[in-house]
Amino acid sequence: MKVLQVCAEIFPLLKTGGLADVCGALPGALVRRGCDVRVLVPAFPAILRGVPDAKPLATGGELPDGGRLLLGTLPGTGVPLYLIDAPALYAREGNPYADEAGQPYIDNHRRFALLGRVGALLADGFDPSWSAQVVHGHDWHAGLAPAYLRAAQLHSGRRQAGSVHTVHNLAFQGTFPLDVLGELGLPADFYQTHGLEFHGQVSFMKAGLHYADRITTVSPTYAREIQGEEQGCGLDGVLRARSGELSGILNAVDDAVWNPAIDELIPARYDGRRLAGKGRCRLALQSSFGLGPQTDRPLFGVVSRLTEQKGFNLILEGLPQLLERGGQLVVLGTGEPGLIAALVQAAKTHPGAIAVKVGYDEELAHRVVAGVDVMMVPSRFEPCGLTQLYGLKYGSLPLVRKVGGLADTVVDSSLENLDDGSATGFVFERFEVDDYVAALRRAFALFKRKGEWQEVQRRAMAQAFDWDAAAAQYIAQYEHIAA
Ligand code: ADP
Repeated sequence: MKVLQVCAEIFPLLKTGGLADVCGALPGALVRRGCDVRVLVPAFPAILRGVPDAKPLATGGELPDGGRLLLGTLPGTGVPLYLIDAPALYAREGNPYADEAGQPYIDNHRRFALLGRVGALLADGFDPSWSAQVVHGHDWHAGLAPAYLRAAQLHSGRRQAGSVHTVHNLAFQGTFPLDVLGELGLPADFYQTHGLEFHGQVSFMKAGLHYADRITTVSPTYAREIQGEEQGCGLDGVLRARSGELSGILNAVDDAVWNPAIDELIPARYDGRRLAGKGRCRLALQSSFGLGPQTDRPLFGVVSRLTEQKGFNLILEGLPQLLERGGQLVVLGTGEPGLIAALVQAAKTHPGAIAVKVGYDEELAHRVVAGVDVMMVPSRFEPCGLTQLYGLKYGSLPLVRKVGGLADTVVDSSLENLDDGSATGFVFERFEVDDYVAALRRAFALFKRKGEWQEVQRRAMAQAFDWDAAAAQYIAQYEHIAA
């Protein structure tokens, strides 16, 4: 089976969030299961620099509206990587979606339409040596790929390839004013309710949801939630209408990158049998952040985009309770200025107990995940969430809200779950500070019972969230389409 993955970011070349981790790990897992996988990305500067073997296709790879297609290899995997080298659209440093002021680029519709368009071309002989049977797009950036495939099918009377669209976060939809339509090169009648029209605008996400043969999202619970009004972001009707083609496939952890037994980015290595290294990681983290070297109260950590989605208002409102119980908090993140200001102020007011690092730092993310006792992810909504999975893997018990993928991956340390040996973290239900603080208190209570804490830690670390299982489910989708 020849499968093309289409995405805007990919670890280790360019990452703004979990999407990159998934797009970096899934291709290798599919290859190990016998798929013939290639990946298509825009040649953003960081990507181009990271693929020194990228060369134009033997045909020259000239693209219809300028630019050319290069082929190289995704580092560390051997997976062939197509790069769309169109400097007028992509030669911009930094965040791939927005300028330095955080404003989305004005030509994003053209930048990501080209991504979808080339995805469809690669199912239609653009590279004479390889043609996709399934085009698998990720998030709104690749949302037009299924639409271009459908347009090509209508034009030629022949189906080039099947398509899968994966939703990593429905809150980001890629909607643009109606007047961009003429620049997309799609049939005018695609602009309709049963197409890519969304409240008088053009929606790339809706195009993916409407035209793809199969839709997936990154956890079973989120697959259910987005079919309801509360989490459907206005697209729940489309998703309900396609519920037969929608499924949730849980993300996993790339064991070669996030694994405390071999992680070279952390001060000491450890595993479930030898936890001493975790203590060293903790001390090193406390010392580097100027926190006291205490060991009798939990150290909480957050590695996250600083946005309302991630539950920072609960964390901020619950700070007095965390502090009065003697807890410590480390935050690594970047995002909304208001949240940054509030967190920085809290760290100033409570030096030695709260530390905040504003920025994006892959190495520090590993050191925080390894060094803390509790990883906090109290999100309002969460398609899957990766940091709680990393927390489990590193024996840093996740404290999460029971929503989306968080609900699918963490089991609360209630008395009955401790008793039957299923607890792996701390889970609360409502997006209310009382519920959050109750979970915080359970974390403090369990931390006093060292033996039980370690038992839960070892169980958390033994959880299997491996890409092989996820890859098998994606392949089942591809085979379903091909059949
Ligand atoms: P989302 O994709 O919604 O941002 P996920 O939990 O799915 O959230 O994935 C977040 C990914 O981004 C994780 O790999 C996490 O470690 C990483 N990350 C988030 N913020 C930072 C940061 N400030 N520095 C380094 N890594 C970060």
